Amino acid sequence: MKTLLVMILTIALCVIIYYNCRVYKEKHALKKTVGRILSIGGVIVMFNIMQLCTDSPLWARFALSGYYVSSDWLLLFLLIFSFEYIGKELSKYVKKKLIIFMIAIDTVSLTLNTFTKHAFDVKKAFVAGESMYCLDVTPYFALHYVLVMVLAVACLVSLFYGAVKAPMFYRHKYLLISIILLLLVALNVIFFNSPIDISVLGYVVGGICIYYCAFVYTPQRLLPQTLFRVAEDMNVGLLLLDMEGNRLYNNRLGQQMLSEEWALVDERGCSLEHWCKEQYINGTKEFTEDCSFYKRGKERVLRIQLQRLKDVHNQLQGGYFVIDDRTEEIKQQAQERYMSNHDALTGFYNKEYFYENAKRFIRNNEQSELYMVCTDVKDFKMINDFFGTEVGDVVLKNIAHFIETNVGQNTVYGRIGNDVFAVLMPRAYYTESLFDNMRQEDYFASMDIEVSFPVVNYMGVYEVKKRDLPISVMCDRARMAITKIKGGYHRRVAYYDEMIRDDILREKRLIGDLREAIDEGHLQMYLQPQVSADGTMLGAEALVRWIHPEKGMVMPGDFIPVFERNGLISEVDKYIWECACQRLRKWKDEGREDVYISVNISPKDFYFMDIYQIFTALVRKYEIEPKNIKLEITETAIVIDIKRQMELIGKLQQAGFVVEMDDFGSGHSSLNMLKDIDVDVLKIDMAFLAKARDEERSKKILEMVVLLSKQLSMPVIMEGVETESQVKFLSAIGCDMFQGYYFARPMEVAKFEEQYMR
Ligand code: C2E
Ligand code: MG
Ligand code: MG
Repeated sequence: MKTLLVMILTIALCVIIYYNCRVYKEKHALKKTVGRILSIGGVIVMFNIMQLCTDSPLWARFALSGYYVSSDWLLLFLLIFSFEYIGKELSKYVKKKLIIFMIAIDTVSLTLNTFTKHAFDVKKAFVAGESMYCLDVTPYFALHYVLVMVLAVACLVSLFYGAVKAPMFYRHKYLLISIILLLLVALNVIFFNSPIDISVLGYVVGGICIYYCAFVYTPQRLLPQTLFRVAEDMNVGLLLLDMEGNRLYNNRLGQQMLSEEWALVDERGCSLEHWCKEQYINGTKEFTEDCSFYKRGKERVLRIQLQRLKDVHNQLQGGYFVIDDRTEEIKQQAQERYMSNHDALTGFYNKEYFYENAKRFIRNNEQSELYMVCTDVKDFKMINDFFGTEVGDVVLKNIAHFIETNVGQNTVYGRIGNDVFAVLMPRAYYTESLFDNMRQEDYFASMDIEVSFPVVNYMGVYEVKKRDLPISVMCDRARMAITKIKGGYHRRVAYYDEMIRDDILREKRLIGDLREAIDEGHLQMYLQPQVSADGTMLGAEALVRWIHPEKGMVMPGDFIPVFERNGLISEVDKYIWECACQRLRKWKDEGREDVYISVNISPKDFYFMDIYQIFTALVRKYEIEPKNIKLEITETAIVIDIKRQMELIGKLQQAGFVVEMDDFGSGHSSLNMLKDIDVDVLKIDMAFLAKARDEERSKKILEMVVLLSKQLSMPVIMEGVETESQVKFLSAIGCDMFQGYYFARPMEVAKFEEQYMR
């Protein structure tokens, strides 16, 4: 019997050693603790063998002491294991040192017991005719027993706690170990006093069970379940086929895709499942492809991936399809691509994309002669500032619509700047009157409010001679051509030629020279007298002259449009206004307060300056009468924003200034404007005096204009009077004042004073 027991225990010891070796190969976090439990389990078995083999009561006591000491430490590690297993830290709940201290005391006490016998002794008992030692305890042994039970209960409590807290899915993993532990405790209690202690084998079995639970059983059971959940939750369809191509499994999304309700079919009408099976059986390759399938006639793009599964002997075991519906993603990408290539407002190509397409167009149209046309709206910034960007946007949209419907099919067009559109077209399509069909109301079409702003859309044209020139340069050249006509109303189309580049360079130099011209006094005020019918001088118009150190006298026509384009005109005007006021002050001091000076106000001045503030400040500074200053405003300035200009004119008139409408009749809606604008003097454009085809006819018109202004109680001044007959005619029809070469040309101030002020 004894021999059989020793043999069984020896085998158990070998098993424990075997599992201990396996534990050391594991990579699990619990590896250390499980290893210790198994090692102590082995020690317990060894002490048990020793107890069975010895005849000496001293050694038997020693073996039993070792056995109990080991069980103390085993329980400590079991407790640590339980906490690690449920994912908690033992030291957070109890003082680990205290437990170790108590176990250490028990260890010393039990070790000494070998000699002192204070806790237990051994006594002989006979089992199947063989003598064996069994336990004979004293009350002192209860201390050890209580310690062991407390530790065991603590283990159980922690494991039960883990089981209760864990989701259903994980619960069994705690319960399993709890049951093993409970069995161990039960065995211990049952065989407490028996000479043959089966509970030792319980330690062995328990240790192995813990090993299995921790490293083998639980992960293996959990893995498939977890994988299943993952597969179900995937946002791609999964279709698993066996060797013959039959459906083994599909996940939730796979089910949807393969179900009749979705009815995904390819262009032949073949269903998705059938298609997959075909690919699997007829082909040998694995692939990832984007395929078009149709669901109720609507295209869906599926990215389908086929993987074949092979066993260790490289034999086909089955395969699976991963089906990803990328329709929305592709739509989104296409949308993003569109957004990055197109202008959001007009839907036209944006600059970069236009360049790209224009380049391709030139390559594909090698035979045809091409024109690059750029458009640019006159004073577009003003439209935005005065009427709001919404109105500006409407104008741009309408231009875009016009281009779209008018430039012909075989062209490329885009919006390459704020108000700049570019069109690349064959020469055959090009006509100078491209934009002539666009009427004023077309620019503001689809708008609720009425806007009166004369929109001028300039067109700059570059004939594509060097086809390898970057598109951006071609556009620059077309736009450069525009700068030549920008500011004016009469010419709307300009062509790029080499001279334009020189012109632009010249303009640049001019702009650079301006500051110096003002500082050095190269800008001068000339005066041209304005006279009554009998030739009496009433006042003068201040006209600027640039006495350039190299070029000699430069006329306003050569530099004013340049400065108007970039806003520098206000510098010139402020300077001339100051000169005029200075002169008026001088004349006042000389007792000639009856003479006035008319000054020109550029349309751009309204935009860049506070005119009211400047003039009131000037009259204050020079202490002169506002009535001695006449302000010449052109129709253009008023037309931009009639309401605002009316207010300003009213304010200036109230302050005592005389407001004169210059170049009346040269603009677009001169007569129409008279109903809104209440100016003091009408200055009729000299174009009315120009030689006309039907002189009688223009005379009649002039007569009517003068009559009209009389009706409105507005004095009239005629500019550009060159002949005596003109004076006679004008006097006859009731013109009050004259200005022109017939009386005098514009002259230096000194000369004017000499001739008229003495
Ligand atoms: P404007 O205000 O209509 O000035 C009258 C222009 O007609 C002047 O040309 C004057 O020299 C010219 N003129 C006068 N009498 C006759 C004539 O009998 N026959 C002809 N053919 N021309 C005559 P100018 O000085 O060359 O100025 C041209 C334009 O430049 C002016 O037209 C005005 O719009 C602008 N300008 C001149 N000085 C200034 C200025 O200081 N500031 C601003 N903003 N514009 C100015
Ligand atoms: Mg004038
Ligand atoms: Mg004029």
